[in-house]
Amino acid sequence: MSVLIVGSIALDDIKTPVAEHPNLLGGSASYSAVSAAYFSPVNLVGIVGEDFPKEHIELLRSRKIDLDGLQIVPGKTFRWSGEYMLDMNTRETLSVELNVFEHFSPDLPASYRKTPIVLLANIAPDLQHHVLDQIESPRFVIADTMDLWINIAKDSLTRLLSRVDMLILNDGEARQFTGENSLVKAGKAIQALGPKFVAIKKGEHGCLLFGQGDFFTCPAFPLEELLDPTGAGDTFAGGLAGFLAKEDAPVTFEKLRQAVVYGSVLASYNVEAFSLERLKTVDAAQIEERYRALHRMSQFEAAK
Ligand code: AMP
Repeated sequence: MSVLIVGSIALDDIKTPVAEHPNLLGGSASYSAVSAAYFSPVNLVGIVGEDFPKEHIELLRSRKIDLDGLQIVPGKTFRWSGEYMLDMNTRETLSVELNVFEHFSPDLPASYRKTPIVLLANIAPDLQHHVLDQIESPRFVIADTMDLWINIAKDSLTRLLSRVDMLILNDGEARQFTGENSLVKAGKAIQALGPKFVAIKKGEHGCLLFGQGDFFTCPAFPLEELLDPTGAGDTFAGGLAGFLAKEDAPVTFEKLRQAVVYGSVLASYNVEAFSLERLKTVDAAQIEERYRALHRMSQFEAAK
């Protein structure tokens, strides 16, 4: 099956305590699409300006990523600049230039409308609604979001929750959105607004998955060196969605548990280098190796 991904495609300037790199390929849809394409064909919906380097288009094209839904328009590509603090987790947005994003209407090519698995990657909730309005009977819809939308578009985001099967967000965002300090209470409060499943990411501490009466906790792969955390969440969401699309089968909690682990594995590779430099070189054997390692690390003996 295919997965439809809508989100941002960006040129990022990234600063960490040890290095600084300008003009990198970024954006929620770029990371998600390359990650998902390790498992399934991807239908990409996004927008870039005429300044967007051809090599990035070629990278997307070289994967199983359909670009019929990519709009290339006069003007400049969306730009984002961020700086990470010493803990490599706290991040400050230094600047945002919407550019071609300002008038973006994510219109789906007819060939995309029946895509069974949909990932609404991080983008304004109104645009996520607009994509859902055009999709015909999807099997499973996942939404990702960020603190900005909780701050400035909470009503639209709340309405979106009644239209999706799963929400992905990080621990700080879950607390911010629900006002609950306990992540268990926050997960349940989000489920009460619509999604049957919620994944709360906790950075280097792994991820919590809430189902209907089910709960799963997935560790993060223990990395010794992390170069750039940008896109970890998008890579996680893309890997998860791509894995679900791999087989034409119902989405069960068991499948979601596996999907969350594959998402975590891809995210662990992504943060080993800036931009998509590491993500784009991962191979199937490396993905399986870390999946098996996470399985081993999280086993323990049953109670007597
Ligand atoms: P993450 O590290 O998973 O939160 O995602 C980082 C990516 O999000 C960067 O590559 C940015 O280009 C992109 N981004 C930052 N702000 C926004 C925004 N307001 N809307 C959509 N994408 C954004």
